[in-house]
Amino acid sequence: MGEFELIRHFFQQHRAETMPGSVFLGIGDDAALLQPPDGQTLVVSVDTLVCDVHFPADAAPDEIAQRALRVNLSDLAAMGAQPLWFTLALTLPEVSDDWLRDFSRGLFACAEEFDCTLVGGDTTSGPLSITIQVMGTVEPSRALRRDGAGAGDYVLVTHTLGDAAAGLAVMQDRLDQTLDEPTNAYLSARYYQPTPRLKEGVALRDFASAALDISDGLVADLGHIGESSDLGADVYVEDLPLSPALKRLKDKDQARRWALAGGDDYELCFTVAEEKMPELGLRIASGEIDATVIGRMRAGSGVSCLLQGQPFELESSGYTHF
Ligand code: ADP
Ligand code: MG
Repeated sequence: MGEFELIRHFFQQHRAETMPGSVFLGIGDDAALLQPPDGQTLVVSVDTLVCDVHFPADAAPDEIAQRALRVNLSDLAAMGAQPLWFTLALTLPEVSDDWLRDFSRGLFACAEEFDCTLVGGDTTSGPLSITIQVMGTVEPSRALRRDGAGAGDYVLVTHTLGDAAAGLAVMQDRLDQTLDEPTNAYLSARYYQPTPRLKEGVALRDFASAALDISDGLVADLGHIGESSDLGADVYVEDLPLSPALKRLKDKDQARRWALAGGDDYELCFTVAEEKMPELGLRIASGEIDATVIGRMRAGSGVSCLLQGQPFELESSGYTHF
């Protein structure tokens, strides 16, 4: 199968008549022609997943595709944006029909779930790597940035932390405890299929002074909000939201370290001014937003982790590539 047949067969899902109105021209020309809604700005982000760095070589192709698109969508969620389109640059060591069929199945299942259309890409040969660029829109004044936190703002995170790191440890046989199958499956899904918190991101436009998604680890990523906003932060380790699966770990400190520094969770971390907390509290209590207060912003710099008021030491604050 040649390059163009491959693209047509596996990636050109839409005919002109089924294309969303925001796409004048999708895959097949030199570039796509796209139309953002009136009054909205374009929000663009790109991420690369490299074989053996971001996923193991024997990972299932549909899971690789899901993860690649989901981590990108998470960046849009963290801006309070709504996704519209994406492009895919695929580097393949060989053309395997089975691999491509499973990959494109996972990709389009995810694209449909989050209402995002593939509008172009590039296909080359070389070591397996997947680059996805997502594009979405938001009213510029309502975007969730990293630089808006104030001293005294509460720090919150969505859902639970540490699951993805625990899932990776299970897959790599690094856990010194045997968990039941449903727990293992839950943790592995949290690694391979992180949920981009798009609904939460949109809801948080009314509340958050700053926000980002947690890709490298809470402490490292909250540090980015601190740097951008010229502040420090305290994290209350006993308040970290842990899933039932993580609470099942015998090594409580390990669970806490994964929640603080594990990364790959793609939950949102955001800050909220004190006067907005009562209304946000109501939305959390009603179940509309799943979020937990885990700390406060303060004058100074750096992120301090405290367990019952005492410093909680971490060897590493998060993942870095170099
Ligand atoms: P060009 O040489 O003009 O850059 P290409 O030959 O790379 O064009 O691609 C032909 C068309 O197929 C373009 O519209 C491009 O966006 C699309 N395309 C190429 N690879 C992919 C892919 N992996 N997924 C989706 N669209 C792709
Ligand atoms: Mg090209």
